[in-house]
Amino acid sequence: MKKRIAIFGSTGSIGTQALDVIESNPDKFEVEILTAHHNDELLIQQALKFKPNAVVIVDEKKYTGVKDALASTDIKVFAGESSLEDVAAFNSYDLMLAAIVGFAGLKPTIKAIENGKPIALANKETLVVAGDVVMKLAVEKRVPVIPVDSEHSAIFQCLVGESRNPIERIILTASGGPFLGRKPNYLVNVKREHALQHPNWSMGTKITIDSATLMNKGLEMIEAKWLFNLEPEQVQVVVHPQSIIHSMVQFRDGSIKAQMGLPDMKLPIQYAMAFPQRIPNNFPRFDFNKSSQLTFEAPDTKTFRNLALATDALYKGGNLPCIMNAANELAVWAFLRNRIGFLDMTNVIEQTMERVTFIENPTLEEYFDSDGEARNYAASLIQL
Ligand code: NAD
Ligand code: MG
Repeated sequence: MKKRIAIFGSTGSIGTQALDVIESNPDKFEVEILTAHHNDELLIQQALKFKPNAVVIVDEKKYTGVKDALASTDIKVFAGESSLEDVAAFNSYDLMLAAIVGFAGLKPTIKAIENGKPIALANKETLVVAGDVVMKLAVEKRVPVIPVDSEHSAIFQCLVGESRNPIERIILTASGGPFLGRKPNYLVNVKREHALQHPNWSMGTKITIDSATLMNKGLEMIEAKWLFNLEPEQVQVVVHPQSIIHSMVQFRDGSIKAQMGLPDMKLPIQYAMAFPQRIPNNFPRFDFNKSSQLTFEAPDTKTFRNLALATDALYKGGNLPCIMNAANELAVWAFLRNRIGFLDMTNVIEQTMERVTFIENPTLEEYFDSDGEARNYAASLIQL
């Protein structure tokens, strides 16, 4: 039986790599649903090639074009944001790959969990915003949430066979991004093009900026807390510029397990889609004889203050991670449009976190409200 995959965010970096994995394993996977925000051309091309049951184009202006291009097929075409939830409620798929970027991924993922569908989770913002609600629902519905994020996939892989052994701590590795070792006097002048050059990974623009500011690692600390049911003290970050060790788990006897390999997102994507199986592939292999060194250092949270802000959000909990995420999404958006500078992003996030009302145990609705309130406040700071 082939696994029928619904790819939410199929035109993105994770989505397109997932389609490469599916193309290489036609006996194991087939595509059931594809969704895109506005890239109609790529969505059409993907639909014609992979013949899903349904596609969603969120941007309604693109609906007629997509519909016409697929008129000779029996692929169903939907448009608009609410269609994401409608197709997530379909019965006809076996696994959702949640690869939309940002807060927008939350609602369809919740719908899929309500629908009892296993989730391969790339969209870390879902857990940053509402991790308690999402994981509680997943437990209730007995739905596995399998991480795609490379660090969390590493931890997940290290935990196979260890269900009776409590975790002492996890060690998330960070590449340090393109500005590792730089100080604020340098960062103040950094421009979009410069920040988009990641040394080890090629990814979507939002996560690439998050990697440059270290917010990505902050989001990942919170993601890890919810995925692996950890206390904040159990989550540590270490900078490892070569990105060969993808993360580690330390058990209570002091033993540390690491998962390693060349940095290539196709591996964690494939692992999440095929879990619990490991399927063969021809991805390049890491060669210890050719590598020079694996190095480690503490993160510089005085320079990369986003990581300190995220640590604060991790410890305080409540709606603070949600507020931080919303402010960050807006700040990154503004930076990508050259509206604010690199260091301004941190100021926007910090001020928004100070200003928006703290709620200790928010409901899902309150998370949505906090997101809106934080976006409005951050927008006023940026003068959008
Ligand atoms: P991307 O920008 O390349 O792609 C995003 C996808 O989401 C696109 O298909 C786009 O059409 C869709 N999308 C964007 N805004 C939307 C909206 N408002 N409504 C509906 N769909 C929308 O992003 P990416 O790099 O593939 O990242 C996707 C997610 O995976 C992010 O949460 C990111 O943090 C996470 N992730 C990515 C990588 C990576 O290597 N790219 C690694 C780890 C985790
Ligand atoms: Mg990651």
